[in-house]
Amino acid sequence: PVIRDHGDQFGRRDVFGPLAEVTGADLHVPLVDGRTVRYANLDYAASAPALAAVIADQQRVLPYYASVHRGAGYASAVSTALFEQSRTTVAEFVGARSDDLTIFTRNTTDALNLLAGAVPEGAGIVCLDTEHHANLLPWQRIGAIVLSPAGTLEDTLRDLEQVLITARPSLLAITGASNVTGEVLPIRRFAQLAHRHGVRIAVDGAQLVPHRKINMADVGVDYLAFSGHKIYAPYGSGALIGRADWLDAADPYLAGGGAVRKVTVEHTDWATGPARHEGGTPNVLGAAALAAACRELDRIGDDHLRRHEWRLRTRLLSRLAAIGAVHVLSIWSDCTDAVGVVGFSVDGYDSGLVAAYLSAEHGIGVRDGAFCAHPLAARLGVPGGALRASFGAGSRATDIDRLLAALRSLVTDGP
Ligand code: PLP
Repeated sequence: PVIRDHGDQFGRRDVFGPLAEVTGADLHVPLVDGRTVRYANLDYAASAPALAAVIADQQRVLPYYASVHRGAGYASAVSTALFEQSRTTVAEFVGARSDDLTIFTRNTTDALNLLAGAVPEGAGIVCLDTEHHANLLPWQRIGAIVLSPAGTLEDTLRDLEQVLITARPSLLAITGASNVTGEVLPIRRFAQLAHRHGVRIAVDGAQLVPHRKINMADVGVDYLAFSGHKIYAPYGSGALIGRADWLDAADPYLAGGGAVRKVTVEHTDWATGPARHEGGTPNVLGAAALAAACRELDRIGDDHLRRHEWRLRTRLLSRLAAIGAVHVLSIWSDCTDAVGVVGFSVDGYDSGLVAAYLSAEHGIGVRDGAFCAHPLAARLGVPGGALRASFGAGSRATDIDRLLAALRSLVTDGP
């Protein structure tokens, strides 16, 4: 793909140093030969290590661990305030409209399943077959049209418009950035197209939000889903943010305490707002961690992180090209933007074996397999799987260089 060089755009200032300090992770791992090396974590797209500021914030809020929205005690009041402030922080971080709902979920998968359950009866849905399963299976299950996009974004937008005209769906569900190639979709253009045809747009932000500052109101995103563990918070928290009408009219995601106004034996008067879909004791620490990660990402600055990742990505891509047997994966030949996620295959080598070799002999963690995107892997010609290196805040140039040296040695000398 033709990738714009953000490195040049943002100048040559070295940005590797300061960002290395912001994650708490500096692990050392054993190799097969008995040596121990610093872990080169190139699997941020699966779960990014918690930021040091997030870990410190968890220590700060942990003493107030108590029931939210119910207890009368001081700790309950603090927990409730913390939970609701976290909601506001997360909504502001993604530029939600003032009347959008921000619902805390377990992760992106949970958020998209919640949304799929809230789409009005009979409403048509369109998605692409390039999606992560989290943004494919919930829609496939309720009869979505799954479009196989063309090899360019321009042609994809054109084909999509035809589907919007002929099938007249109510919702377009699309990813913001591919978890396999890192390619970033022009979401504003997809949103404008959808809205021109009276269609809402839901964005799977799992791989976008960790890398790009998004403003839902400005870009025209109706629903956004993302995961805390991919934006440097611990596991177990995520969010669905978006238009209130469908969500307030839908069956509650979980029936139970907290989701109701009044219950009699014969009838339940369900709450509206986020509470409707947050039945049961919520993950208050998770919500606080999500908010702390949003605050820290704002402090680091979108430009800073983007520049840092772009330089790492450029370093990796330019030197991978010199290793003859490596092929970098791409969906759209005219895509000009990408995040710190690079999918590739190595001629003649099983991806699982390469990943095991990188870990056992070099202390490098990458992802292998079909990346929970089987239709996309098949389409890219790697149905049996490929490899993925992904990085972000705290990643270093030496992590990239170690991967390159290990691959070079594999291809020239064998395992
Ligand atoms: N969407 C994309 C693009 C992803 O990369 C992932 C996870 O890898 C998900 C959705 C699902 O995220 P989670 O496992 O946190 O629900």
